[in-house]
Amino acid sequence: MSSIEFRILIFDGRDTLFSHDNWVADIPLRSKFPRLFDLVVYKESTVEEMGRLGWEVTVHDTWRWLLDLVHGYSASGAYHFLTTPVVPVDRYLVDDVWHKLIPSKVSLFVWRLLRDRLPTKDNLARRRVIPAANTTCSAICDNLETARHLFLECNVLSSIWPSVLHWLGSSAVLPGELRHHLNQFIHMAGLPRFTHIHLKIISFASVWVIWKEGNNRIFNNAACNPSSLLEKIKFNSYLWLKSKQTAFSYSYHDWWKKSLLCMGVH
Ligand SMILES: [Zn+2]
Repeated sequence: MSSIEFRILIFDGRDTLFSHDNWVADIPLRSKFPRLFDLVVYKESTVEEMGRLGWEVTVHDTWRWLLDLVHGYSASGAYHFLTTPVVPVDRYLVDDVWHKLIPSKVSLFVWRLLRDRLPTKDNLARRRVIPAANTTCSAICDNLETARHLFLECNVLSSIWPSVLHWLGSSAVLPGELRHHLNQFIHMAGLPRFTHIHLKIISFASVWVIWKEGNNRIFNNAACNPSSLLEKIKFNSYLWLKSKQTAFSYSYHDWWKKSLLCMGVH
């Protein structure tokens, strides 16, 4: 779902970023007024900081589900919104991350990733959850931890992509922007349309494993080597394909060794 259905309801403005959050328009102010945003000196200020000229502050900010202001958010309301054709849906914003073969927690994770809503260190620092000085990548590669860095540019964690491509018999160079990267992976040149769901599952398993590994390094002070990470990607993707698809009769060894054959490519 896109930010156009959710909007922050402002009370004290302390938890809401003036330029980056969606609180007063359909899109964040930085997107609505990009030239003005270029001129803003304090780009990370909250609404409270920008409005210190006498606003009453009593209650914390909260989120409001704009499609039902009376009863608020419900799963059935969201489902109705997504499945009713008369409601205009911006497919670019919604993104097609949901599929019965993909665990919903993983779909939600990718949905957040594509909107840069994961608690990466740059985002945590922007929200003042951690100090700006503590934003080094979880893999301790001395770079700022952004989603783009973690999943695409980190020479430790995201170095897994060439191995995944090699497993699939490809050596494609993928774009350096997350949405395009995943799209190009899913629509890999030379592979037929019926492989797209398999490739989507593999690409989602890859970002999932990278994220888990970053957390593993932070919270457990432990690290997996690249070949273990590739194994986890193969195993997760196999599990997701196998658990809800009775027709998928291949063994893990088949998947591990001849993934394209398991996708129906001969
Ligand atoms: Zn890194």
